[in-house]
Formats: sequence, C-alpha cells, structure tokens
Amino acid sequence: MKAHDGMYIAGAWRPAATGDTIPVVNPADEQVIAHVPAGGAQDVDAAVRAARTAFPAWAATPPAERAATIGAVRDGLAARKDEIAGTVTAELGAPPAFSQAVHAAVPILVAGSYAELAATYSFEERVGNSTVYAEPVGVVGAITPWNYPLHQIVAKVAPALAAGCTVVLKPAENTPLTAQLFAEIVHDAGLPAGMFNLVTGLGPVAGQALAEHEDVDLVSFTGSTAVGKQIGAVAGAAVKRVALELGGKSANVILPSADLAKAVNVGVANVMANSGQTCSAWTRMLVDAARYDEAVELAGAAAAKYGDRIGPVVSERQRARVRGYIERGIEEGARLVAGGPDAPRDRGYYVRPTVFADVTPDMTVAQEEIFGPVVSLLRYEDEDEDEAEAIANGTVYGLAGAVWAGDEAEAAAFARRLHTGQVDINGGSFNPLAPFGGYKQSGVGRELGAHGLAEYLQTKSLQF
Ligand code: NAP
Ligand code: MG
Repeated sequence: MKAHDGMYIAGAWRPAATGDTIPVVNPADEQVIAHVPAGGAQDVDAAVRAARTAFPAWAATPPAERAATIGAVRDGLAARKDEIAGTVTAELGAPPAFSQAVHAAVPILVAGSYAELAATYSFEERVGNSTVYAEPVGVVGAITPWNYPLHQIVAKVAPALAAGCTVVLKPAENTPLTAQLFAEIVHDAGLPAGMFNLVTGLGPVAGQALAEHEDVDLVSFTGSTAVGKQIGAVAGAAVKRVALELGGKSANVILPSADLAKAVNVGVANVMANSGQTCSAWTRMLVDAARYDEAVELAGAAAAKYGDRIGPVVSERQRARVRGYIERGIEEGARLVAGGPDAPRDRGYYVRPTVFADVTPDMTVAQEEIFGPVVSLLRYEDEDEDEAEAIANGTVYGLAGAVWAGDEAEAAAFARRLHTGQVDINGGSFNPLAPFGGYKQSGVGRELGAHGLAEYLQTKSLQF
C-alpha cells in the first residue's frame, strides 16, 4: 500500500529525524504491506511547535468558520470512504463490509456532528454579573489505538478543532496508514498549517515524548488501562489536562422478562464485531438460572455461525494474548461451548469465536479485558436482581453495558443501578451525540457530542 515516508508537520510531509521505520502488517495474511517512519522526540517537538504556532490564530477564528473547516474534513472523509475502508481492512483485518459500515461511516457522522456543534455551541454565557467564556485549552496531544483507528482519531481531532485547539496525533503503530490518509484529507480540506500534525511511531518512544512534552496542554489518550495510568501520572505531575478512554469488561444483563433469543443473539454479535476488539464490548453475559441452559445453547449456536465471518485480530501479539486468556479460562474451570485456543487457519492472526459457560465472577475471563472474540456467560439466581447488579458492577471497569427486559422502563430502571458510562436498553442503537466514556478504571472524561467538545475547553469568567 501507498505510505508516506515522512511526518505531516506544519502543513507538509517532512522527513523524519531518523531513518527508523515500522513495518505495517496485514493481519489476514501476515504480509508486510508498507513501512512508515518511526518518529522520536525530535519529530514530536517539531510537531508541538507547529501546533503552538498555529494555536492563537485558530483560537481566535469565529466558531462558524471553524465549523466550515470541520465540514470540509467531513466531506473529505465522505469522498474517500472506499479508500478508507480498504486501508482499515488492509492494516486492521476488518472484513470489507464492516470497514465500510462502521470504520469508514462512523467518522463521517462524528465529523459532521462537530461541524454542527462548532456552529451552535454556547462559548459564552451570562451568570449573574459575570460573563463566562469557554476558551480552547491549547495544544492537544492525541494518542490513539488501532481497534477503531479512524473513529478514535476523529473523536479527538474534530472536537479539539471545534473548540479552537490545535493537535499533534500519535496513532497506533499497527494502523498508521489510516492516520496518514486522515492527514491527507485534513490537508486537502485546506486547514491552516500546524493545526493538525501527525507523528507516527512507537508508544514508549513517540507516544511518551508527546505525553511528556511540556508545551502540550491536554493529553487525550485511548488505549489500555496500563498505559492510561502512566499517562495520567505524567499529566498529573505536570498539572496538565488529561482525558483517558480505557478498557472495559461490560455486562450484558438479560433480565427474566427479556426476549432471550434476541438478547443472546445481539449480545454475541456485539462481542464478535471487530473480532472482539471493542473497548465497549458486552463480554460478560448475565442470565437468570431458569433460562441459563437455553441461553448457553443459543450463544453456542450464534458463535458457530461467525466461524468464517469474523476477521483476524490485529497482530501476532494480540492473538497470543487472546489465546492465552482462552487457555486460562479452561484451566480455571469455565466450560468451552464454542471455539477454543487452537488456530482456525494456517495463515493470518485468526481466533475462533469462543463462548464460555459456567463462568463465575472471580474467574480471569470474567474480570480482565481479553480484546478478542470471547464471550463469558454468568448465572444469577432467578429473579435476584441484586445479585445481577453485584456481578455486573463487580469489576474494576465501567465503560458500557446492556440491559434487556420485557419493557424499556424495567430495563432502564436496572440500567440506573450500573456503575458504567453507557448502557444500551433492549438493543438501543448507536448515537454519535451521546457522551461516551468510563466510570472507575475505564477512564476519565467523555468523548462525542457536546460533552466531548467540553473536554477541550477551559473556563474564564469576567465580573462586571
Ligand atoms: P496501548 O499500548 O495502550 O496502545 C494505545 C496507544 O498508546 C498506542 O498509540 C500506543 O502506541 C500508545 N502507547 C503505548 N505505550 C505508550 C507509552 N508508554 N506512552 C505513550 N503512549 C503509549 O494498547 P495496545 O498495546 O495497542 O493493546 C493492549 C491492550 O489494550 C489490548 O489487548 C486491549 O485490552 C487494550 N486496548 C484497549 C483499547 C480501548 O479502546 N480501550 C484500545 C486498544 C487496546 P503503540 O501502538 O506503538 O503501542
Ligand atoms: Mg502497545
């Protein structure tokens, strides 16, 4: 695939400080498809300077003009949708239909929502004898993962630009080509030089240099809880703003009055999508004892249907990690209903769609984020909603979840008891304006919609 051999800094593709490169691998066939430059502290520094230089003019640009610029980025994303989908398929391994419907389509929605919000958001309000202004935080360091490579970039860059901030992006080493494509789109949309800058590279090198850079005002990170904790500590020590979107182990609570077949089938599909590499995936399915065996049978049958339909996981390392968790589940006494740790194909980083039954809340597969196509079925005593609540809330995470019941009001009442940032009621559909983010160790802050925009603003009040 076509790749740039430089960094996008101050409006142009520039040579990297060193000649080091990172190979990009297609996880479906294990072939190296491109190389991108491995940026270091010098490249990060150049990018942060460019963002700082561009900041005052962009911060002073009227919101309506900022909105028009974001609208041009949205149009660029729409115009190059097929190319985006193809690139995500090549470097992440997502099946083409999923790349089109989700990886390429959702960022268009999100960029569009920020074009609108930039124009309509109240950046100024009167409170008693004060005028309160919402001003941009400054230079944003954005560090993103590979699992929804373009969505996670746009969910940071669009609100940052809407707020009047400028950005340096360090994307995941596994999916840099999607990030380069985004930089091309930004360039073609006519953004002033330095407003958006891209440094590809390794997390502990380029990512860390960005998080530690003293002229970055806000670090917005999406990824593992382990790295998020380090970034939070670095930002705390420097008294800089931080937003963290971390892992999850979300519960899919099926109440006794729910349509069981629908809840189980949608629940399994939710986990298998993107080969299980979704931070908000409902990886723990909770079913009451009376219908537990039926649910296990339904889940096993649903997973079997995914056999040839899911893509590989992103890398050899990720495959080893997921298989390790499946082996651990078997060792700890969970019952394998579908799938397993063995390789389904000779080539490509594939993992079998896997269902575990008889999972108890203390097992590793009920506690840790696996980030693969693995769903664990847990049982609660009939009608004992307190037990279901305790199991659902019984992990360090709190990112998302689902509740199913005979009527929406019953499901919604139960959802209010969950310690989690987002809950889908009876299969409620994706809303690009709904705030997304975690309770507990799933993170700090929110993305998407007006709440996502507010992350990039700071407040000033003038008294009269
Ligand atoms: P990760 O290491 O947390 O990666 C996320 C981003 O942070 C990447 O751009 C990464 O660069 C960068 N990074 C890594 N170490 C860094 C450091 N010391 N300082 C600054 N930035 C750093 O996640 P991963 O290794 O890709 O995946 C590991 C596990 O994290 C997965 O198995 C999954 O459980 C979880 N995960 C969660 C999410 C989520 O959305 N919540 C997304 C991805 C992964 P590199 O790409 O070079 O490592
Ligand atoms: Mg990593």
